Amino acid sequence: MVVEVPLRGPATVAGVPLPDAMVEQLRAQAVVEPVLVDDAGAPVAVGRCESALSEKTKRVVRRRDGRCRWPGCDRRTGLEVHHLWPRSWGGDDRIANLASVCTTHHRLAPQGPRLLLGNPNHPAGLVLVDHDDLPALAQLAAERARADDGSAHR
Ligand SMILES: [Zn+2]
Repeated sequence: MVVEVPLRGPATVAGVPLPDAMVEQLRAQAVVEPVLVDDAGAPVAVGRCESALSEKTKRVVRRRDGRCRWPGCDRRTGLEVHHLWPRSWGGDDRIANLASVCTTHHRLAPQGPRLLLGNPNHPAGLVLVDHDDLPALAQLAAERARADDGSAHR
């Protein structure tokens, strides 16, 4: 399936617009092929196909976690590398924003109602937050900003 993501407007499949949450879900398992187009939309150059997350990154995250990072879940199979702060909300591909989760059992944002947030590099560093819980989200965002600020000055 080919999903086209234009500079402006929604991503589409065969001209049918897709909701951002669906694009985010597809992106996790996607192979990305960048295509440079001219002003009329005609292809000018085609880049190399790459998985959205490199196999090396996924391997590092799986090795760090060893099991599902959902609190109370100890599954070790069927895990996917999940973006804690969703890509569609500005989350990046850094290991500190990734965790192993059995996404078929747990419904996480942007499709689900909850976020798994915190520091995945600490064994007990992640907490579940309802994405409607604005005070908790604001506190975690502030902690994250301080952590980012700290790493920028290292
Ligand atoms: Zn799990």
